[in-house]
Amino acid sequence: MTIRITRWSSDTCECVIEFSWDDSVPENERTGRVKNYINRCLAHESINSEADRFRTALEENQRKNKAHATILEKATTSSLYELDQQTNQRQLKSGITLSWEFSGSAPNRVMTLKYNGVELTEAQKNSFRTHLNNKFGAGKVKLA
Ligand SMILES: [Zn+2]
Repeated sequence: MTIRITRWSSDTCECVIEFSWDDSVPENERTGRVKNYINRCLAHESINSEADRFRTALEENQRKNKAHATILEKATTSSLYELDQQTNQRQLKSGITLSWEFSGSAPNRVMTLKYNGVELTEAQKNSFRTHLNNKFGAGKVKLA
């Protein structure tokens, strides 16, 4: 058994964390233990315990990644995505970018996703909203 240290930083906030994990535990059962909270972002600094702050920052980051994956998976229009030539996985079409913002206060922040460079119809947006509400709970991820 070896305790390893990994540095994690988010693209949804400014938190930077070093956490330790045990490499004898299977990957899908690992839980990170905060070793050193290097940077606390403004949105998360009011959360008291480092473990809760890390959990919140990680959840928001994963929620963004999963919501984006859900939209790519459920898209029925090729105006949004193209297939990666190597992996054959859906990815955003060249020229389209994803941006996001949060509202409310942690740990209950609401995320709003925006796809720039494409005009989604209201019907397409409503279909995505239904999938997002089903996956994350009503109103946790909004679509601009
Ligand atoms: Zn943060």
